[in-house]
Amino acid sequence: MKCALCNNYKQLQLSHIIPKFVYDYIKKTGLLNTRFVMPLENDGKFYQDGDKEYLLCHDCEELFSASEKHFCENIFIPFKKDGFYKAINYNNSDYFCVASILWRILFCDIRDDNQNFNNEQMQHLRYYENIMKDFLIGNRTNLGTIKLYIYFFEVIESGESIKDLNIHQSIRRGTSGYTLVSDNVYLVFCNMAGIILIAILEDFKYKEKWQNCEIINGSAQLQPPQNTSSILWASLIEDIKEIEQKELSENQQTKIDKKILENKEAYLNSESFKEKINDINLKK
Ligand SMILES: [Zn+2]
Repeated sequence: MKCALCNNYKQLQLSHIIPKFVYDYIKKTGLLNTRFVMPLENDGKFYQDGDKEYLLCHDCEELFSASEKHFCENIFIPFKKDGFYKAINYNNSDYFCVASILWRILFCDIRDDNQNFNNEQMQHLRYYENIMKDFLIGNRTNLGTIKLYIYFFEVIESGESIKDLNIHQSIRRGTSGYTLVSDNVYLVFCNMAGIILIAILEDFKYKEKWQNCEIINGSAQLQPPQNTSSILWASLIEDIKEIEQKELSENQQTKIDKKILENKEAYLNSESFKEKINDINLKK
């Protein structure tokens, strides 16, 4: 089969769309340190539960996994451990990693036409997907006008409009990613348990604001505080409302309650519980 990145006909590997380290982290810090994971902790829209696809050949998979390891150790784990209170250093490997994850999402959205893009939109998206692919494969040295951002979703202490959404559990314990197209903006995003990666492909009216979030293809720092104004937030809130409406079946809920009771202490020490408390605090 044809590799989605290098276009060579080779045996394809089963590739994660959102990197495996994100799911490993969610499982490890979840309800319990066992194979039992909250069934819906917390599946967003598209590419959930560690979606895997036959996408890349062995060489391309290796190319991606080297940068994923760097990103995980230098950005993901430090943020999940300490939050974003001081500068985080990154380099071109992390930039490459962000580009590769967002490219995978864009590629699958175009291929599967998940969102009924019209012809014009599809043309634009294909154009940008090619630029990203050429960059990743080494056929070009930059992403042209495409800009990449990393946003760290910190604990929120107040916010009337979001107080009933369980936003911490949804975003900081969840994953999602898709291509978002409006009249003014084309963007691709990926939420990895609170680290949100964004590629702005087009911003016709310069409405997107991502202060202190942009990353460059080189060694630099991201400095707090970050401020944003983006169409992404309304879309994420809609997704979360959808998730909230999906109630667990009685059977699932009984199983979870039983596990919690059997392992009370482990649960009280878990990240799942911490985010639940963050959501309860926001409701006050
Ligand atoms: Zn390949």
